[in-house]
Amino acid sequence: MSRTELLQQLCAQLQQTGMTRQEAMAEARYALTFILDISVSDLLLHGTDQVTETQEEQLRQIVQKRATGCPLAYILGERYFMGMPFFVQPGVLIPRQETELLCEQAAEVIRAQGLRSVLDLCTGSGCIAISLAKLTDAEVTALDISDTALQTAGRNAEALQAKVQLLHSDLFLNVDRKYDMITANPPYITAAAYAQLEDSVRVYEPELALLGGDDGLDFYRRIAKEAPEYLNPGGYLVQEIGYDQGEAVRELLAAQGFVNIEIRQDYAGHDRMVWANLPL
Ligand code: GLN
Repeated sequence: MSRTELLQQLCAQLQQTGMTRQEAMAEARYALTFILDISVSDLLLHGTDQVTETQEEQLRQIVQKRATGCPLAYILGERYFMGMPFFVQPGVLIPRQETELLCEQAAEVIRAQGLRSVLDLCTGSGCIAISLAKLTDAEVTALDISDTALQTAGRNAEALQAKVQLLHSDLFLNVDRKYDMITANPPYITAAAYAQLEDSVRVYEPELALLGGDDGLDFYRRIAKEAPEYLNPGGYLVQEIGYDQGEAVRELLAAQGFVNIEIRQDYAGHDRMVWANLPL
């Protein structure tokens, strides 16, 4: 069978599981290029090349597993973020595209202001910490409460040749120095929203990385209170938030003396980040 024929078949099978044609095509293409170890342009340019029976069988099994609801990233053990392949496994949140802008903007500020040190809280796969280590000269430390997360982040840092120091810690518990910037994509889903999450997220992705307490703000409360002790004067606090949490997080930060508090949007136009500084 040719690459293109198999792509169409896989796409049709995925669509039957309830995906839109666009989603199904994106996933079928990802799986096919992953198994064939080729680029998307190679797939488009050489669509008539034949696939082996083993490859065909591997892809059918992937689609079968996908039909049970397991996210493709866990099946393949990979998700691209900031143009880099990150290893992911159950127990670690799959990097989201909406987090890329945070990395881009944070890297820009680190470079422009010559910031020397960054601490990434709730690092998970390490996607923020590793991106910042690759894009800047800052010294980056990544921490998490989960051993699976730290093991995943360590494996990613090594594979992507990023210099990142790992720390096992419940937020700042084991942190003993100050940083120029603190980044965080903490769990921020409310208890009510968590119950409503689609199965592929709620059943397969770690509750520990998603659930932010009853009102989704538990981590922002703790971070706003504790971060000042771990930031240098004028230091930056950059957090990802849920689309409706901007004002609540702004208030928490203002109450702890943060300045320049700014809610920023993602590419889709939703509130997605809160930036703030410690006063100089
Ligand atoms: N953006 C994720 C989601 O909507 C949530 C990530 C988080 O809680 N930090 O599934």
